[in-house]
Order: sequence, then C-alpha cells, then structure tokens
Amino acid sequence: MMAATRPATLLDRLPPVRGRLTANAPLGPFTWFRVGGAAEVLFRPLDADDLAAFLAACDDTVTLLGAASNVIVRDGGIPGVVIRLGRNFAEIAAHSAGVIAGAGALDLTVAEHAAAHGLCGLEFLSGIPGSIGGAVAMNAGAYGVEVKDRLQAVDMVLRDGRRQRLDAAALGFGYRQSGLPDGAVVIRAHFSVSPGDAAPRMAEIRTMREATQPVRARTGGSTFKNPPGHSAWQLIDAAGCRGLTLGGAQVSEKHANFLLNTGTATAADIEGLGEEVRRRVLAATGITLEWEIRRLGVPLRRLEAMP
Ligand SMILES: Cc1cc2nc3c(=O)[nH]c(=O)nc-3n(C[C@H](O)[C@H](O)[C@H](O)COP(=O)(O)OP(=O)(O)OC[C@H]3O[C@@H](n4cnc5c(N)ncnc54)[C@H](O)[C@@H]3O)c2cc1C
Repeated sequence: MMAATRPATLLDRLPPVRGRLTANAPLGPFTWFRVGGAAEVLFRPLDADDLAAFLAACDDTVTLLGAASNVIVRDGGIPGVVIRLGRNFAEIAAHSAGVIAGAGALDLTVAEHAAAHGLCGLEFLSGIPGSIGGAVAMNAGAYGVEVKDRLQAVDMVLRDGRRQRLDAAALGFGYRQSGLPDGAVVIRAHFSVSPGDAAPRMAEIRTMREATQPVRARTGGSTFKNPPGHSAWQLIDAAGCRGLTLGGAQVSEKHANFLLNTGTATAADIEGLGEEVRRRVLAATGITLEWEIRRLGVPLRRLEAMP
C-alpha cells in the first residue's frame, strides 16, 4: 500500500533560516488592538544577513509588522510570511553627529536614549507607540514634527535581498506615508539631532497625550488621515459618531478619531465600525475619510453594514 503524502505546507517550502519560523502564529496578542488571526508563517530573523538571505530565496508573499500600533490584522489572519524584527534589530547609537536606531527599537526608547545623551530633536517620537521601522514607513509625526524632518538616511533590505542605504530625500515622504521601495524592510534609521535638554518637551508631550488620547486603551491610534484643511476628529464629531459602537468596537469618547476594542471586539467589528464612520461622515459633510490605519490580511466573513 502506498503511504499517503502530506501536501507541502508553506513552512516546508521556505528557505532555511538562522532565526525562527513559526507556522500558524497568532498575531492578535502582538497588536495594539489585541485582535486578529494568525500569520500563516511568522519569521523572526536573527540578523540582517539572515533577513537578506531569506528574502533573496523566498518567492512567497511577505508582510511586515512593526509594533502593530497602526494596523488592524483581520480575523482570518495573514496569508504568506509575516516578518517581525525583534530585539536583535533594536540597537541604538547616540552621538552628537546623530542617532542611529535599529528598526525594531521602540520610538519612546529612541527618544529617551537621545535625551539621556543630551540630544534634542527626537522628542516627538516619545508619544508614538510604534517601532522605528513603522515610524519610517508611516512617516509618523506629532506636534508639528514628522520623521521626514529628522531623518537623514535609511538602511534597508530590498525584497530581492539586496541591501541599500537611501537618503531621506529619496524616500518621497508624504502625510503618513513614505515612498519606500515595494517590499523593502527598513533595518536602521539615521536621524539628525542637536545638543540640548529634551526632557522638558518630552514631559509636555506626555501631559498633552494623557489629556487628549486614550493612551492605555486597545486602539490603533488615529484611524483616518486628516483631509486637507480639516481635522478627521471634528468631521467624525460633526457626523455624530463619537461613542458609536459596533459589537465590541467603539469610537472613543475621548478622541473621536480613535477606535477602541472595549474587550470583546473582533477585527471585523473594528473595521466595520470604521467603514460606518466613513459612510456617516460622507453623508454629513461630503468628505471621504481615508484610512490611516493599515488593514492587513483576510476577513473571516464579509463586513456587515450597520442598519
Ligand atoms: C495610542 C496611539 C497613539 C498614536 N499616536 C500617533 C501619533 O501621534 N503620530 C503618528 O504618526 N502615529 C501615531 N500612532 C500610530 C502608530 O503608532 C504609528 O503609525 C507608528 O509609526 C507605527 O509603527 P509600528 O511599528 O507599530 O508599525 P505597524 O503598525 O506594525 O505597521 C505600520 C506600517 O509600517 C510597516 N512597517 C513596519 N515595520 C517596518 C519595517 N521595518 N520596514 C518597512 N515597513 C515596516 C508595516 O508593514 C505597516 O504597513 C499612534 C498609535 C497609538 C496606538
């Protein structure tokens, strides 16, 4: 009798690595919303050479995740390979000529590191709960300063495994977006700084955040981009959406451009509520809101419109 052959899984056909490959890895616990399905395969590279060799040899779909503070991972999970850069990519070097931060370093840690070395310019990062890789990809910004204003250059591994350093000017930054080459993985960012005491500004930023944002909630930060000449939260308020709920998802009472998982939300609840807010804002104001939050992966079921 012939032995039954098991169909090859994605894990079986991926190239060998020195880091970790995990099949069917739950992603929800990593995300700020605490929702979402699994990665078909999660790859945690050991170092940049491991990442580069993997990308050169891998033909499958690859999705990058940073600290997952600006994403909704859908309930059906993410097909293909999800890459997360861990602690091995989180080194920070600070000196008067600049700060070099690994893509896996948290924004707050980088701001604190610069401050501890008597360097100013990165205070704005202290209130943004993502990683440096995500900050570059999103051109993250706060209180009038964006990544593009302080970034000098980025080290990347391209989708085909080649390494490249690009000047910030070549990255085509826009509002909450960058022109990173398709599939490029940021591994390090070079920032300009100047000597000075960053502590007072960082304390101010902390106080402003606490007063205006649900910083301890399960959220994804600003849901929609501010349309030119408007604030997204004001449009959402004008459409009467503050506090609106769908399943376990709610429009924050504290900041109307933040969606919350109140404890039992699915990714479909959160995304469905966001779509409902867009529909109501369009009906009330004639303005179409554009998602800032990146929605990744596949749903378990079709999104239902609210009655
Ligand atoms: C409470 C709260 C407050 C927030 N306040 C702000 C704010 O003031 N200003 C602001 O700009 N944002 C804010 N955000 C949103 C979020 O923190 C930022 O967009 C952050 O830069 C995302 O970084 P991340 O590491 O979490 O990226 P993720 O959310 O994991 O990913 C975001 C995007 O970046 C890509 N990416 C991640 N890492 C890499 C990499 N190494 N190379 C290439 N691409 C990569 C991902 O593929 C994805 O497309 C807030 C979020 C929360 C929850």
